[in-house]
Amino acid sequence: MKKMKLLSLQLKQLSKNKSLTLWKSFWTKNGMTFFIFKFEKISWICTMQILYQNIPKMSLTKKIFCIIGIVILGVWIGISSISFFFYFQTQPHFWNILHFSEKNFKIFDPHQTFDLFSPYSYEVFVDKEHPSKVETFKDIRRLNSVFLYGDGNIFSLREEAATKFELMARAFSHAFKFQAKFSINSAYRNTAFQRKLYAILPHQQVAKPWTSEHELGLAVDLGVNGKGIETEGGKYFKRMQENAYKYGFHNSYQKWIEIDGQMKETRHWRYVGVDLAMYLHKMDMTFSEYFHSQESKNSHN
Ligand SMILES: [Zn+2]
Repeated sequence: MKKMKLLSLQLKQLSKNKSLTLWKSFWTKNGMTFFIFKFEKISWICTMQILYQNIPKMSLTKKIFCIIGIVILGVWIGISSISFFFYFQTQPHFWNILHFSEKNFKIFDPHQTFDLFSPYSYEVFVDKEHPSKVETFKDIRRLNSVFLYGDGNIFSLREEAATKFELMARAFSHAFKFQAKFSINSAYRNTAFQRKLYAILPHQQVAKPWTSEHELGLAVDLGVNGKGIETEGGKYFKRMQENAYKYGFHNSYQKWIEIDGQMKETRHWRYVGVDLAMYLHKMDMTFSEYFHSQESKNSHN
C-alpha cells in the first residue's frame, strides 16, 4: 500500500510537469532492432497514465503528436511480435524445453509427380547412369544447431535441406530426452573433393564424381553420439525410419544392391523434399526404385 501511495504521489507530481519530452533510442542485437521510447525520467507505464490525465489539457498539436506516438508503438509491438515468432521458428534451440508436435499435416496424394531431372531440384535423381553435372550450388550453408554431436556444425548442406535437417536434429534429440545427438561423418562434398576421394579410396566405397548424392548438397552420413546409428538396439535407426520423412529425408540405400545400385547404408540419409519423402515412405519404395519405375513407365509410353 505504501508503494501504491508513493506511486500515485509521484504520478501527481509528474503530471504537473507539462514539458514532456519524448526521446527514443535504437539498439541492435542479432540483426534485430529494438526501440526504446522514454519520456523524461518516467517509465513507460507511468507515461500512459500521465498522458491520460493530461490529454484534455493539451494543445491540439501535442494531442496529435501523442496519438501518432501511440499508433507507432502499437504497430511496432505488432510487427515485433510477428518477427519474433518467425525468428524463433528458425532457431531450433530456443524451443528445446518446449514440447512440440510432430504431426504431419500433409495430405498424401499417390498420383503426384516429381521433378527428377532438373539439376537444381531437391528431387533430382543421381546414380552411376544418371550423373548431375553441377559444379557447385549457391545456397550451400553451414549447419547451425546445438543438437549436433562433436564438430557437426562444420558440415554444410543446401539451404532448405540444412533448415529441415536442423529441425530433424532437434526433434531427434528431444525424442531421446536430449541424451542423443546426431553426429555427422560427411555431408556436402563439392565435385573437386569427390574427385580427390575417388582417386584415393577403393571404388566400392566412393561414388564416381558427378554421381554422388553428397555432391548435390542434400545428403548426410549420420551417426549418433559419435557411434553408428544402429547402436543401442537399433532404436535410433527405427526412429529415423518412422520420422525422417516428415523432414523430407530418405534413407537412399535400404533394400538390395539390385534395387538401389548400392549396398545397404543405414547412415546415408538424403533430403528429397517433404512431398517426395512422404511419397516414398507411404509407398515403401526407395528413391532408386521409384525413379526406375518412372523410367520404365516413360519408355513404354
Ligand atoms: Zn553417404
